[in-house]
Amino acid sequence: MDLHPQASASPRRPWRRRLAATVAASSVLVYALTWATLQPNDPSVTSRAEPLDFTDRVKDVFSGALLTELSTKAIPLYVNGRVERGDNLSTLLQRLGISDAPAMRALEQSDGVREALALGPKVGVKAVVSETSTLQRIEFIWGDRKVVGTAQRLSVSHNDSGEWQTTRDAVELERYVRLVTGTIESSLFASTDALGLDDRIAIEIAEVFSSEIDFRRDLRKGDRFTLAFEEWSHDGEVVQDGQVLAIEFVNKGKALQAIWFDEKNEYFDAQGNSAKREFLASPMKFSRISSGFKMRFHPIKKVWKRHLGVDYAAPTGTEVRSVGRGVVSYAGWKNGYGKVVIIRHNGGKETLYAHLSRIQVRKGQRIEREQNIGAVGSTGWATGPHLHFEFRVNGQHKNPALLAKQSKTIRLNASELATFERVSSEMQAALAAAGGSSLAKSEP
Ligand SMILES: [Zn+2]
Repeated sequence: MDLHPQASASPRRPWRRRLAATVAASSVLVYALTWATLQPNDPSVTSRAEPLDFTDRVKDVFSGALLTELSTKAIPLYVNGRVERGDNLSTLLQRLGISDAPAMRALEQSDGVREALALGPKVGVKAVVSETSTLQRIEFIWGDRKVVGTAQRLSVSHNDSGEWQTTRDAVELERYVRLVTGTIESSLFASTDALGLDDRIAIEIAEVFSSEIDFRRDLRKGDRFTLAFEEWSHDGEVVQDGQVLAIEFVNKGKALQAIWFDEKNEYFDAQGNSAKREFLASPMKFSRISSGFKMRFHPIKKVWKRHLGVDYAAPTGTEVRSVGRGVVSYAGWKNGYGKVVIIRHNGGKETLYAHLSRIQVRKGQRIEREQNIGAVGSTGWATGPHLHFEFRVNGQHKNPALLAKQSKTIRLNASELATFERVSSEMQAALAAAGGSSLAKSEP
């Protein structure tokens, strides 16, 4: 099986990734601006007042330079960092430049510390180290999954009689809007990786424009994207992901925009058309594995007329979803198709999904757009695992690429549009600030 090398991603190392992103800043623009500049009266922005903050210098810990410097100064040291995948207490403290064996033995007994370490990345760590290099206090901060903007904090510190004491409380997080610009060199994941962005961002981009761009087939070298997204931080460490607020994607020279509209819980273009269409462009969700998967047999190019469909290579078991709402008109085995599902949609439209390894719907069942209907396989006349996808109108085969593009969009009503326009213009300004907005020059 010819998997993309990135499918077996190495454990995430946020610091190194962040440093790599900084190094790459000459070719790409990466910067953060506080939400305050976009929304001056936001009450969630709190000012920080710490006696000393060495956040910018945590990287010095790697070289030991900070500890050397510390030995010449009689001040407590504040170290910020975060838990990384696979960390135990020893590796974490070592990375933070703390060597205090008695403290480590004490912390190892703490259920709370074990719990925090088990959560892995996205757990911020803040330690206070005395002038004699002993640990005075360590805090673990992680985002509350249920409440955006709030984090759980576990503090373990020495009390007056030299015992370790644990306290737990909730802390407010600071909201930032981060702006990022990237260019496609090989794949969407390669570009987001180069920028140190989480996988969920790449998947969000692909899903938002899923009616316009098939990210497995339509991407071109030189395509560009600009993003504005929230990050929730505590003392400069991102501990909770936020909403992607605006995306501009320039594909084959054509700029597309999607602006998040909180009121409707959906993305809209600058004109107030929903990014969601009646049909999706791809029956397979975009993922790191499916995006890099190559056919074992020679791919058949632009032959939908002869071949009457489009083939998507993907590992056996990859979920297959219905591109639109409809009713199952066939579910079962059909000679060359192997296990196949046919869905009837409005307006005489029909979609067909073949060579499945598994079918999870039955004839007559109502299906929603994006609903999983089965999984990729190689049943029937297939030389390797792939999905064979067809689109028909009144029994006539049509190019599936046209299906999503021609489907209707949902528009906002007049009062919603007025509110949306304010959000939209704010986001346009943000995208333009990132140097990405090319909508004006790309539109005819
Ligand atoms: Zn085929």
